[in-house]
Amino acid sequence: MPWMTEWAGPFPIFAAEASGAHLTDVDGNEYADFCLGDTGAMTGHSPAPAAAAIAAGSRRGITLMLPSEDSVAVGEELARRFGLPFWQFALTATDANRFALRLARAITGRPKVLVFTWCYHGSVDETLAVGTAGGTAARPDNIGPPVDPALTTVAVEWNDATALQTALATGEIACVLCEPAMTNIGIVLPEPGFHDSMRELTRATGTLLAIDETHTICAGPGGYTAAHGLDPDLLTIGKPLAAGVPAAAYGMSDDVAARVLEHNERLEVSDVGGIGGTLSGNALSLAAMRATLAEVLTDGAFERMIELGARFEDGVREQISAHGLPWHVTRLGCRVEYAFSPEPPRSGSEAAAAVDRDLDRFLHLHALNRGVLMTPFHNMALISPATTAEDVDRHGEVFAEALDRLAML
Ligand code: PMP
Repeated sequence: MPWMTEWAGPFPIFAAEASGAHLTDVDGNEYADFCLGDTGAMTGHSPAPAAAAIAAGSRRGITLMLPSEDSVAVGEELARRFGLPFWQFALTATDANRFALRLARAITGRPKVLVFTWCYHGSVDETLAVGTAGGTAARPDNIGPPVDPALTTVAVEWNDATALQTALATGEIACVLCEPAMTNIGIVLPEPGFHDSMRELTRATGTLLAIDETHTICAGPGGYTAAHGLDPDLLTIGKPLAAGVPAAAYGMSDDVAARVLEHNERLEVSDVGGIGGTLSGNALSLAAMRATLAEVLTDGAFERMIELGARFEDGVREQISAHGLPWHVTRLGCRVEYAFSPEPPRSGSEAAAAVDRDLDRFLHLHALNRGVLMTPFHNMALISPATTAEDVDRHGEVFAEALDRLAML
């Protein structure tokens, strides 16, 4: 896959096995893993309670096309964490987003979605778009878009409430889909008041608000939404939800659920209408989700993960400052990222302008050769429940050494 070939160096390392926060390659080298499957393994690799539930679940029937008791437990737990009462399941965050957008278009009767320039929500056609001086256009290197994204999407800059207001005033936007803080072009936090404006503007124009918590679950047990008291109409999440077994979920408010039910009552063959798939909500994924939520990504685990995230951040900040570099470090719960601009970016485009692929590759390869694995094409580290202070300090030493080397150039 493309992201496997894009690791620093002429070829990716080949994995032999991974456990907790560590990975061993086929040559026997061990790495402290801060990539963690790009959040798919934010639980740590093969956490024991999830592995046990997966083993047991695989013997009880893997996919039934029927709900199991696990679906009730998982639905209730998601409702407790994120505050939305109704949930459906998908296999990937991409699909959760696709289904949420379809429902939003169906119940609003509006054609377009709004996203933020340089967002990423998976391979969702409507979201592979950026705002340009000439209007919304396909994101660079968008592979085979079915139609021009300008027909389906309006892309504006994150933190730009005025552009958002103008776009929503057209009345053609069914739904705003956003991460509550951007994470896919580096971390771009919302400015104070931006979420309030977004919620007010969406409500005032009858536009739905969908929050994608797939990465920002790093902010706490209920993601950024619970940590900051957001009140979305729809919420999507995938990746670590079942410790890496394909599983995703999308939640909806009472109002959205009622409108979906009313809409779907008028349909005769909604099972082939574009929502879900045969394996969505399969028994094995649900068993894995239940164990992951109940026993791995617990409130207590988040406390430790976030504490270690702060230790990571402090170490990086100290080194940046000791070396007098015009860089900054940002943290969102247990996710930490450093970037090559003195100030944190305010928008996706500002973040994109600070990307330096060569510097990224140097830092990644330098770390990889010293037993530290960072997320490719990011300088991002994620802390799992299994990550230790020693792992974090090992990164700190390697980072300091890389900066010493850069200073010699
Ligand atoms: N939403 C967000 C915020 C993501 O970062 C990603 C993937 N990086 C996705 C959705 C899509 O996840 P998946 O590739 O597992 O479908």
